[in-house]
Amino acid sequence: MRPPEPVAAALRALPRPVCAYVYDTAALRGRAAAVRAALPPAATLLYAVKANGHPDVVRTLAAACDGLEVASGGELALAVAAGARRIVFGGPAKTDAELAAALAARAQLNVESGHELRRVDVAARAAGTTAAVTVRVNRAGAALPGSHAMTGTATPFGVDEKDLPAVLALAATLPAVQVTGFHLHAVSNNLDATAHAAFVADALTWSRQCAAAHGIDLHVVNVGGGLGVDYTGDATIDLGALRSGLAGLDLTGVDLIVEPGRILAADAGWYAAEVLDLKHTHGRWFAVLRGGTHHFRLPAAWGYSHPFTVLPVDAWPYDWARPEIGNTAVDAVGELCTPRDVLARDHPVDRLRVGDILVFARTGAYGWDISHHDFLHHPHPRFVVL
Ligand SMILES: *Cc1c(COP(=O)(O)O)cnc(C)c1O
Repeated sequence: MRPPEPVAAALRALPRPVCAYVYDTAALRGRAAAVRAALPPAATLLYAVKANGHPDVVRTLAAACDGLEVASGGELALAVAAGARRIVFGGPAKTDAELAAALAARAQLNVESGHELRRVDVAARAAGTTAAVTVRVNRAGAALPGSHAMTGTATPFGVDEKDLPAVLALAATLPAVQVTGFHLHAVSNNLDATAHAAFVADALTWSRQCAAAHGIDLHVVNVGGGLGVDYTGDATIDLGALRSGLAGLDLTGVDLIVEPGRILAADAGWYAAEVLDLKHTHGRWFAVLRGGTHHFRLPAAWGYSHPFTVLPVDAWPYDWARPEIGNTAVDAVGELCTPRDVLARDHPVDRLRVGDILVFARTGAYGWDISHHDFLHHPHPRFVVL
C-alpha cells in the first residue's frame, strides 16, 4: 500500500535521517464510520485504546465512536482527558486504586473474578455508589478463527464458564454490585466476517439464556473486538459481509457493545525509516534502517514480514557514488544489535538507494504502543499527526 500524498509530503519535509510515525486523523474517522455502518444501528461502538494510545488518536476516536475501552489506570486517564462520552474498563489485573478511579470516572467495569467482584463492592460502597458491572466470561467453547484466542481455552482472562454460577451467586450477596451483563471478547485479528457475525449472534443467545437461568436483568452484551487486518496484503475483515451477518439481530433490551482496536487504527498509521546503509552478506541484501523493531515490534512479535513501499529521496549529500540495488529482494533490518531486528524479509525492490525512505503501511495499531522503545537508547521516531 503506497502512502497517500499528504503522508508522503509530511515525510519528505522531515529532517534527515527520517524516522517517523504519521497518524492520519481523517483515516481514523473514515474507518470508524465504516465499522459503524457494518453494525446494527443500535449497537455501541467503542475504541480499544491499547491499540494506539497517542492522545490525538484517542481524542479523534473518542469523538468518532461512542466511547473508549480501557485496560489500565493510565488508559483511563487518557480516556477522561479525551472527553470520552462512555468508558468501559476491563483487564485481569486491576488494582484497588484503579477500581476507585474507574468508579469516579463513571466507567463501566468488566469484572474478571469473584475476588475482584468483592473488591468492586468495597470500592463502590466507599464511593457511596452502586457499580453496574459486566462479568467477563471465558466460555467453554466459543473460539473464533484469528490469532490470540482468549476464550474457549486456558487463559488468565475472565471467569471460567463452569465457575460462573458461583460468581453470579456471590454477586447477588454484594450490596453495591449489580451484574448487568457479560463481556465475551474472544479473539484478536479475525478475518472471517461470517464467523464473527455468528459469534456475535451466539453471544447474544448465550447471554440471554444465562441471564434467565441466573435471575440477571440483562442490559449489556459486550462482544469485544477482534476485527482483523491482513498485514501481508491489503485485505481487512469483510465489513459488508459482517453487516449482512448482523442485520437480522434482535437487540431488544440489550446494549450490544463492540470494542475493536486494530481495525480502527491500523490503516491510519504509517511508519517510515530512512535507509542508512545497504549491505550484501552471505548472499543476502540488507537495508539497514534508522529505526526498527524497537519502534514497530509487531512483525518480530508475530513472526511475519511486514510489506513496505520505497519513497525515493533524490538528495545525496556525500561526494562518492550512492549505494544502490535494483530488481532484487532485500531484508529490511533495524538499528538494534540483534539479528531479530527484522521488519521485512525477502521483499522485492525495483530500485533502492541509501537515503531512500521505507514506508510501512498499516502500522497505526499495536505498532509503537507494543514496542520496547528504549532498548539501545536510539532517539524515538517523530510523531506527525495529520
Ligand atoms: C485487545 C482488546 C480489544 C481490542 O482488540 P482488537 O483485536 O484490537 O480489536 C477489545 N477488548 C478487549 C477486552 C481487549 O483486550
